[in-house]
Amino acid sequence: MSYRAHPFHWVPGAGQRHASTDARPVGTLVYPAGTEVSTLCEESVQADSSEIAWLWPTCSACNRAAHKLAGLPPVGGAR
Ligand SMILES: [Zn+2]
Repeated sequence: MSYRAHPFHWVPGAGQRHASTDARPVGTLVYPAGTEVSTLCEESVQADSSEIAWLWPTCSACNRAAHKLAGLPPVGGAR
């Protein structure tokens, strides 16, 4: 149950929801607030764990990279 098919996690930070392949601390489901996380869009953001942060828009660069990692067609490339 602790492993998921996709090797990345979503993390809210800097006003957008980014995806990251950074390992999360053992026993946590989200990155603790303030954790410095390297995102798939090659930024470094501080994780935000407030509830409103999950309502931020998804970073489109991370979304594209995440789809690629998951082996899915890029967003907008759907038939
Ligand atoms: Zn991003």
